[in-house]
Amino acid sequence: MSAFDPRAVVRPGILSIAPYQPGKPVEEVERELGLGNIIKLASNENPSGPSPKVAGAINRCLADITRYPDGNGFALKAALSNHLGVEPEMITLGNGSNDVLEFLARVFASDGDEIIFSQHAFAVYPLATLAVGAKPVVTPAKDWGYDLQAISDAITEKTRLIFIANPNNPTGTWNRADELEAMLKRIPSRVIVVIDEAYCEYVPEQAYESFVNRLHKFANLVVTRTFSKIYGLAGLRVGYCVSSGEIADLLNRIRQPFNVNSLALAAALTALEDQDYVDKSRELNTNGLHQLCKGFDELRLDYIPSIGNFVSVDVGGDAQAVYESMLKQGVIVRPVAGYEMPNHLRITTGLPEENERALDALRNSLTV
Ligand SMILES: *Cc1c(COP(=O)(O)O)cnc(C)c1O
Repeated sequence: MSAFDPRAVVRPGILSIAPYQPGKPVEEVERELGLGNIIKLASNENPSGPSPKVAGAINRCLADITRYPDGNGFALKAALSNHLGVEPEMITLGNGSNDVLEFLARVFASDGDEIIFSQHAFAVYPLATLAVGAKPVVTPAKDWGYDLQAISDAITEKTRLIFIANPNNPTGTWNRADELEAMLKRIPSRVIVVIDEAYCEYVPEQAYESFVNRLHKFANLVVTRTFSKIYGLAGLRVGYCVSSGEIADLLNRIRQPFNVNSLALAAALTALEDQDYVDKSRELNTNGLHQLCKGFDELRLDYIPSIGNFVSVDVGGDAQAVYESMLKQGVIVRPVAGYEMPNHLRITTGLPEENERALDALRNSLTV
């Protein structure tokens, strides 16, 4: 074989991408450590799974998997339109909201453009930015959360897009609706503002508001949502964004024609209809957050107050050793050194007994 280095012909930006580090799968830990009874609190999944009605919906679909899915996602968009109070033409479906975040980068940014996001923000933003050859502009965080003034100050002629996760992952911090609205008013409308609401269904706070109901005010606003978190369908990959019809039309031009599969469409529709289950999941999470935070208090560990379904705890030193020790006890959590948080571990809320086990494993690991 002749010597050929594919890196010599790669597009600019690709070599600076650090591949996404997913939470360790349970099977991998079983294989590597020979352990059973492992719990995974590492990827912000719903610990009670999806609505029990979802399995039936998927079963009914199986007879038809020889057919292509509905590329327009008619039924799911109609249900979302009704649920959110927006026109179906404003919704773009994705293979997870990750897919939609990439559409946005690809449609609005290319070589030399700038995309702004905060320090400690979701890892997919730099990936999507670098993949289109754009430059990530990372603004400093304030008390672990977003400094919206720093974000608007970072806008230049080259800025195309701003990614804002509200609440943010992995910090669980959030921005109030009034301060976000003030920011949207002061920045130029040529800059697309993406508010990523992957965890919005968990939030009990009054001062938090989804921006879906502000889309009519800002033509440059896009709100993304997902079925991976509270709806418990992370394995099926379905998410969406809501925007003006004009933006949705642009996103549709680059979307793969069948980007959401038929089982995912059916499951998401059924999960959306079961809002009682969403309420139960929210309550389970609120209790789980209290349980974890009470445990951290008892261990005298600092944590970042979170309104997501996870909380990042400061283990008081390099978190990697604590992570590995917890792993050996069969508890998978998430190191977040890649987010410039080397002393924190992000722990997803689990069932009460899982939270207890995580706290036990954490306690044992601090003394090693
Ligand atoms: C988990 C997460 C998502 C959702 O990703 P999917 O591709 O929909 O599974 C989006 N944004 C943030 C901030 C997340 O943490």
